[in-house]
Amino acid sequence: MILGGRVIDPESSLDTVRNIGLLDGRIAIIAAEAIQGRDTIDARGLVVAPGFIDLHDHGQTPEIYRLRSLDGVTTTFELEVGASDVDAWYRQRSAGQLINHGVSIGHIKVRMAVMNDPGGFLPVGDGAYAQASRAQIDEIIKRMETGLSQGAVSIGAGFQYTPAATCDEELAVFRLASTSKTPVHLHCRRGVTGVRKELSLVDDTGAALHVVHINSTSLADTPTTLQMISDARARGHDVTAEAYPYAAGMTEIQSATIQDIYGNAPDEQLAKIEWPTTGERLNRESFERYRRIGGPIVVHDNSEEMVTMALTSPLTVIASDAYWQNGSGHPRTTGTFSRVLGRYVRETQSLSMMDAIRKMTLAPARRLEVRVPAMRQKGRLRAGADADITIFNTASVKDRSTYREPSLAPVGIEHVIVNGVSVVAGGRPIDGVAPGKPVRAPH
Ligand SMILES: [Zn+2]
Repeated sequence: MILGGRVIDPESSLDTVRNIGLLDGRIAIIAAEAIQGRDTIDARGLVVAPGFIDLHDHGQTPEIYRLRSLDGVTTTFELEVGASDVDAWYRQRSAGQLINHGVSIGHIKVRMAVMNDPGGFLPVGDGAYAQASRAQIDEIIKRMETGLSQGAVSIGAGFQYTPAATCDEELAVFRLASTSKTPVHLHCRRGVTGVRKELSLVDDTGAALHVVHINSTSLADTPTTLQMISDARARGHDVTAEAYPYAAGMTEIQSATIQDIYGNAPDEQLAKIEWPTTGERLNRESFERYRRIGGPIVVHDNSEEMVTMALTSPLTVIASDAYWQNGSGHPRTTGTFSRVLGRYVRETQSLSMMDAIRKMTLAPARRLEVRVPAMRQKGRLRAGADADITIFNTASVKDRSTYREPSLAPVGIEHVIVNGVSVVAGGRPIDGVAPGKPVRAPH
């Protein structure tokens, strides 16, 4: 039982004090009157919300699931880069995980496999820079069809990371999305030209498109690209977007997206790049030196004004783009959801509490539920829904992670429940539980 909390449900617009009873991993009752049960959480003075759903999370390990749970995340997905072998991805996590999890069939990963790219997380060789033959494109699409038949949640792609992919190849990916009624979660090419090109694929095929981290690919073009998405919706297309609440991004220094932009850039532009382990800003000499070593970089290339615009647009959901390797990464990994609630809802009041919660729960669930009916039971607080619940203190909720100390857990996220089991209580992680379940399309 969760007693006396301010229960906020974006589907029914409920925002009032209620008692909630959980049974067998589901919400059994939401009532104004007293209820009785075995275990009790005193939620007086706290907000009780559906568990946060993250559509964009690159860290899919037990370590990251723990960090994400402390930020209120109960279901997390790797949908942009995705996996090349969907069955294997779920099998690797079948021993039981802390939070719910799912993956896309990823064009980037499949292309890396077919083109024999030597890269780890992202392509650095032929997966990025070699044109695929007709036979290779056919092989890529065939493997993506296999991934869909194995229950992939969506199709992932990032044509900025695979610059040698031709129009034919991109069109083949979007045709597959259209015929299989599966949304493409796409890292668009940069700026207005990028979004225009990707939206032309939507116009050609009618595929559903989710533009990932529009804040970091649109930057100063954010007002224009949001308008273009709005126009595409007015033409009848299913296009949505997502944003994370930070003005700096993070990716690999060896990736095509960084080499394209900064490979020949002057020192003043290179100074936007931070080497996170030392905090130093780069110049030509240090850029070349670190490029040979490889690793993640922080890119300070956006403004607070654009971030706020992306976060508050009715077209976007909140998604972290969580990025973590070898014990370090971007602070968005640990602070995205608490930062939205602390900074943008409480401090700057750019978002209402109801809108913020909708963008973290109901809206991402709806993005997936046409293909993944299981998502109809998430992102809502109602009898029968999955008991994925996040309980936080509106007065204290705040991110603490920084670019130098990215693993600091937030404060104010008091209780997190996954499928009826507490994974965070009193702001502290609970050890030895694994209630998270795989989320998968019917297969
Ligand atoms: Zn991306």
